[in-house]
Amino acid sequence: MSDLVERLKTMLGEHGVVPAEDIPKRSLAGHRLGEPLALLRPRSTAEVAAILKFCHAERLAVVPWGGQSGLVDGTYAEGAIALSLERMNRIEEIDETGSTMTVEAGCVLQTVCDAADAKGLFFPLDLGARGSATIGGNIATNAGGNRVIRYGMMRELVLGLEAVLADGTIVSSLNHLIKNNAGYDLKQIFIGSEGTLGIVTRAVLRLRPKPATQNMALLAVDRFEHLPRILRSLERGLGGALSAFEVMWEDFYKLVTTPPASGRAPLAYGHGYYVLVEALGGDADGDTARFERILSSELERGDIADAAIAKSKAECDRLWALRDDVLQVARNAPIFTFDVSLKIADMDAYVNAVHAALRARWPAATMMVFGHLGDGNLHVIPGVGEGSRPTRKAVEEIVYSALKGGSVSAEHGIGLEKRDYLSWCRAPEEIVLMRSLKQALDPRGILNPGKVFPLPK
Ligand code: ZN
Repeated sequence: MSDLVERLKTMLGEHGVVPAEDIPKRSLAGHRLGEPLALLRPRSTAEVAAILKFCHAERLAVVPWGGQSGLVDGTYAEGAIALSLERMNRIEEIDETGSTMTVEAGCVLQTVCDAADAKGLFFPLDLGARGSATIGGNIATNAGGNRVIRYGMMRELVLGLEAVLADGTIVSSLNHLIKNNAGYDLKQIFIGSEGTLGIVTRAVLRLRPKPATQNMALLAVDRFEHLPRILRSLERGLGGALSAFEVMWEDFYKLVTTPPASGRAPLAYGHGYYVLVEALGGDADGDTARFERILSSELERGDIADAAIAKSKAECDRLWALRDDVLQVARNAPIFTFDVSLKIADMDAYVNAVHAALRARWPAATMMVFGHLGDGNLHVIPGVGEGSRPTRKAVEEIVYSALKGGSVSAEHGIGLEKRDYLSWCRAPEEIVLMRSLKQALDPRGILNPGKVFPLPK
């Protein structure tokens, strides 16, 4: 072992290798990291290539670590080499004319957003872990978050990337063009592959114009069937400016607006659903008036029971803080976290069926529900009073078996946690094709082994 560490130090220098005993055992999100052989901190793509060439020859497993904010045990690195790009965190270029930014993969999301903002531009990916999640991790997991309804997931925000293959080959595909149909779109192979097909080292991101206006409101809605109608009506009325439509079921809303949470309720309890609505626009004179006009016509129609409109940037931030305070769900611990995707039309029946099935087995079961309704994505967080592995399995089967035609992972990925359920929402032929890709790109199976794919039966 010490021989291995010494050889790695020769390759990467003293600061490039963290020995096993100094590596944290748990991620920021509290997930298991296992016990890696060593944590490597390369400074360049060339060093990443040298690491992979070495690990390929030695048949050593390599598990990429980003900001450690994932939720599916995708960075579990027992007996593997953990690879962090934290020292590759530079913003290399901002092209204001082309609206692109070229960054190293270890750059933290918030840093990218701030750098775009400073140039009057906008990088729209937004999620609760923005202060720790890295661009490489966002790419590897095809991160989603709060503004997908308007700007798409990470897949739509990346123009090009550079990746290192399992054998150390560098594939530099740093495309800056919006349109490039010259052959296969290679970046898409790596986006969302959870570190199983290559290590992303650099990326060209697509920036947008910085919005001149932000209008937000919290809506109280009594009946689920009003939600999709309000959503479509806002999309139509706001002419493409709607950037978030985040729904909190009442139990979750109560949790984030009562102590020890620091947030307070802008609207009274007693309604079934609370919707955080945001519009980002370019018309400083007209946007607010249009936003308020559309909301008041919905209020008059009666679909919205009550509304609180944010009157300042600080009030907007306070509304987002409620939605971001998801860690309050830990008050119901032990809990299980789910991230499902399904048709909006099926959501109400789905949530009711799952809750009923949980209560039938555990009468005191709690179930927090919130999510990106416009994207068909719900986060479902049950607590049944115990957190053992067999209990988790029983809860998983209830949550997933009700999900007819949906997906077991909307935006968190598969990792270790959901691999047994991949076949619940992917056809056998799809999984065979995924395995062929894995075999072609990583024939020795060294890249994030054991993740994504179900174990052979
Ligand atoms: Zn989410």
